[in-house]
Parts: sequence; structure tokens; C-alpha cells
Amino acid sequence: MMKLTRREILEKSPRLAGAVAMGLPLAAPVLAEEPSTAQRKLKVVAVGGHVDDPQGGCGGAMALHAEQGHEVVALSLTHGDSEPIAGQLGISNKELAARRSADAIKSCALLKARMIFMDQIDLHTEITPARYQEFSRTMLAEKPDIVFTHWPIDTHPDHRVASLLTYNTWLDAGLKFELYYYEVETGRQTQHFFPNHYVDITPVEARKREACFTNGATIEGWWGLHEAMQRFRGMEYGCKAAEGFVHMSSRLICPPPFWQHGCRYAEE
Ligand SMILES: [Zn+2]
Repeated sequence: MMKLTRREILEKSPRLAGAVAMGLPLAAPVLAEEPSTAQRKLKVVAVGGHVDDPQGGCGGAMALHAEQGHEVVALSLTHGDSEPIAGQLGISNKELAARRSADAIKSCALLKARMIFMDQIDLHTEITPARYQEFSRTMLAEKPDIVFTHWPIDTHPDHRVASLLTYNTWLDAGLKFELYYYEVETGRQTQHFFPNHYVDITPVEARKREACFTNGATIEGWWGLHEAMQRFRGMEYGCKAAEGFVHMSSRLICPPPFWQHGCRYAEE
């Protein structure tokens, strides 16, 4: 009996084929609907609760987009402050934030990305009507075509906040950008995550590692877990190392107001 790899199976499935990274990583859905944008420079924004989340969750996809000439921005809700870590190091929270912000900027530069910060506080991040507005203003000022963010089912409260602020902006923007969820520290933080989109990050795996170590990663810490995740996603996709994503369909029909009418998929 002929054996098919998972990649071949996905590529043979008309329903899933669009979910598999082909050619330009993750930009395929945008390009498929707007052929005229094929040569257009895209804007990619990777949202994280903390200064190391975008690089850990989607640093490979960030680097691949940047290599293809697209503009990549990492947006952290916080500045790198953390009362527990500052206490362990015996320094002030303000000093820790200054160090970690500087490291995050260097880390993103290795991925050819720009880093921006919002002013929320570690472990005290908020979702309020004012925070929704503030986040949407900041995000939409970047005019994103593709957005990565945390998967919302996560043990870390700041990750959940980052995810829901991003999702709300996606609704506010009329689903105009492609939204992808990424995973971090799967099992310890991200829970119940089943990718429907993969990116082969083998060519940039070493650069992602360097970016993460520039940003405070250690081999004993979360890098070891992330490396194992990349290997596992690579096995699922049929390559050495991959990042897995859940792509939100932009074919959702959500007649306003969203909260009174159920959303449905256009093809159903
Ligand atoms: Zn985090």
C-alpha cells in the first residue's frame, strides 16, 4: 500500500490545501484572494504578552517573512518587567524591564523585525473597553496584513489577554487581516492546540535559536521545550523543524453586531 506523508495528505485534501504553507509562508490566503498583491510588500505583526513570546512562538515565520522583503513588527503588551524574576536577580523591576526591553530589541533585529511595546504590567494585564480601544488603535496604525498572536487557551493570564485583545481587533477591523494563533511552552502554557497550518522553519532555525538566546533563553529553560515542539511539528508536517499555527478563517460571515448574530463559515 502506498504510504503518504502528512504533508502529501494535506496537499491532496482540497479542504486543507489552503491551510498548508505553500511558497510564501502564511501569506498564501491573502495572495489567493488578491492576486494583484502577489508582489506587494506585506506587513506582519506578531503579538505577545511578553517580550520573548513572538520570537519563541513564531520567530521562524517572522524571519522567513522578513527575508522575503516583508515588514515584520513584534508587539509586546509589557516591557519585560516581572516581580518574581526581579526578586530572584535582586534588581528593581524597572531595571529588569530596561534590560529585557533592550535584549528584545536586539533579538528582533536578528530576525530583521522591529519591536514595539505597550504599557501593560506583567501579571496585571487587563481587558477593559478602554484597553480594547487602545490596543485596536495601536495595532491598526500598523496596517497589518498578517497577525500572529497567542492561542487563547493558555495557563498564563497575560497570554490570554494578548490573544483576546488581538481577536477583538480582528473583529473591529472587519476580519481584514489574516489571523494566526501560535503556541508557547505547549503543555505548560498553551493547552489544547491543534495546528491547521505549518511553516517549515528549518532554513532559519539557527537564527531563531540565536534570537531566543539573545533574549534570555537558556538550554535548561524554555528553549529545550520549544526545540522539542519544533521537532514534533516538523514530524507532523514532514520536515526537520516547523512552527504550527491555527489559522482563523477570513471566510467567516459575521453580520454586525457580532454578538447578536451567530458567525458562520461562508463555504458551509
Ligand atoms: Zn509569555
